[in-house]
Amino acid sequence: MLKHDVVIVGGGLAGCRAAVEIARTDPKLDIAVVAKTHPIRSHSVAAQGGIAATLKNVDASDTWEAHAFDTVKGSDYLADQDAVELLAREAPDVVIDLEHMGVLFSRLPDGRIAQRAFGGHSHNRTCYAADKTGHAILHELVNNLRRYGVQIYDEWYVLRLILEDGQVKGIVTYNIRDGHLEVVRAKAVMFATGGYGRVYNTTSNDYASTGDGLAMTAMAGLPLEDMEFVQFHPTGLYPVGVLISEAVRGEGAYLINSEGDRFMANYAPSRMELAPRDITSRAIALEIRASRGIHPDGSAGGPFVYLDLRHMGQEKIMSRVPFCWEEAHRLVGIDAVHQPIPVRPTVHYSMGGIPVNTDGQVRSSGDNLVEGFFAAGECACVSVHGANRLGSNSLLECVVYGRRTGAAIAQYVQNRKLPIIDEQRYITEAQRRLQALLEQPGKYRINQVRTAFQDCMTQHCGVFRTAEIMQEGLQQIQQLQLQYPDIYLDDKSTCWNTEIIEALELQSLFVVGQVILASALNRQESRGAHYREDYSDRNDTEFLKHTMAYYSPAGIDLQYRPVTITMFEPQERKY
Ligand SMILES: Cc1cc2nc3c(=O)[nH]c(=O)nc-3n(C[C@H](O)[C@H](O)[C@H](O)COP(=O)(O)OP(=O)(O)OC[C@H]3O[C@@H](n4cnc5c(N)ncnc54)[C@H](O)[C@@H]3O)c2cc1C
Repeated sequence: MLKHDVVIVGGGLAGCRAAVEIARTDPKLDIAVVAKTHPIRSHSVAAQGGIAATLKNVDASDTWEAHAFDTVKGSDYLADQDAVELLAREAPDVVIDLEHMGVLFSRLPDGRIAQRAFGGHSHNRTCYAADKTGHAILHELVNNLRRYGVQIYDEWYVLRLILEDGQVKGIVTYNIRDGHLEVVRAKAVMFATGGYGRVYNTTSNDYASTGDGLAMTAMAGLPLEDMEFVQFHPTGLYPVGVLISEAVRGEGAYLINSEGDRFMANYAPSRMELAPRDITSRAIALEIRASRGIHPDGSAGGPFVYLDLRHMGQEKIMSRVPFCWEEAHRLVGIDAVHQPIPVRPTVHYSMGGIPVNTDGQVRSSGDNLVEGFFAAGECACVSVHGANRLGSNSLLECVVYGRRTGAAIAQYVQNRKLPIIDEQRYITEAQRRLQALLEQPGKYRINQVRTAFQDCMTQHCGVFRTAEIMQEGLQQIQQLQLQYPDIYLDDKSTCWNTEIIEALELQSLFVVGQVILASALNRQESRGAHYREDYSDRNDTEFLKHTMAYYSPAGIDLQYRPVTITMFEPQERKY
């Protein structure tokens, strides 16, 4: 059995930033990062547009209060305002700290960090490294892990959280390279496992974004918060769904329909293309529904709209958003200097997640905390994004709350002993689970069941939702789940068996998908990214509260928690 003072699951921005903070706070601590990918292949590396902070380099009138207000308004007033205040206040400091670590931000002519406009932000406050911001930050953080001597277990798949008597004691992992199982015990475990975009059939997320951390938490009997809030990014490249960054609109691109109109004038006249993502995604979906979408042959009535960069000119396109130009060129053969890019909404981000307090410690219910268990980044819900996240606030959340959680963990483990674990019990249980997958005769291929599941989620819990559609979706998913014990694996080997990983991930998708649907079904209002055609208004009287969903194979129990409101009273949200 392996042992470390702290084990962090996930090598993206949140996990790496926490590890750096723990090492800085107490260099004697023995820290491990476990990740199913290599850390620099975490989805954070794909982040494009930037990270928000009121550095005031471009806009001297910006304030942290304005950043906090934009975030709360963007969240449709569901965000916890104490957490938002910390996010906005600590933002300049964490960005400068990244710069000191060596992150290569884009610069103004005078050498200070450049800042651009972003959706829902009232000032130009998004710092960036061209349109490869995640790449620039993650590489520097991973370099720092090495500098601080953090042990990295890459390509290890974590398949279970060990929770006994209200205390997390460690994890069970599977080494993808040689198939051996290990129990890792630790004084504190942190999840930084990222999002779940692969629950849907069209997403900007990478293949590893399967919500494993969320599923492991739910299966351990702990709640998941606000899972009904799934962010659809307005500009997924048609038909593949990969992201064309909001930075493109931040730099001035237009959205146009089949009639050549900048239709955002009808939905958010004051912000136009830079309205928040929920509003822009719904606007595009409505244009497509009203037959003002475009077909690949250019005729009206098709499945996408255009993102038009042509007026920006070659020099600006190539210096500010070169990666987006390259994506459109490489994947669909469009030269965005001369042709508009076909786009439509794509699943992008998880507002909900593992409930945590502002020190990253996981909540078991209301204000009760789980001993030894922490989470940060996209898998966590400290609730800074509420019902809808603003672009460039997620990298910021990873860094601010990664740092806070790291500091809290370094304190938490002082003078604590390593927990006692019955290693054999967990190894035997995991062996049985893997053995069953390898040996069951089965009649369904993993891909077949996964595709049916993803199609079902996409059709039944998309941009527009009704009780009837979601009920039907939940039933279909419960039926599909019955096929799980009947999937078969061609690869029976222990060396680099990616089929086993896919089978384990499929189980995560099922758990997460059901929690999303059940939470969405019970929220009988429209707020942020959750839009109910049968309850089209926001209802603060009944639903200004966080969902806490407890999963069990028998069903999902839904409870609620109040929203923390400190600075901004809820108002009607108009742009
Ligand atoms: C294309 C794209 C562009 C984006 N652009 C921006 C942007 O410009 N600005 C912004 O603010 N946000 C952006 N976002 C969102 C932001 O990048 C993510 O929310 C954030 O990077 C998530 O970081 P994370 O550390 O929480 O998780 P991730 O970076 O997703 O890392 C998750 C880690 O967990 C590990 N893991 C998961 N499951 C297991 C398991 N079972 N066992 C072991 N390890 C596991 C993975 O291997 C990985 O190391 C973008 C997202 C996408 C998809």
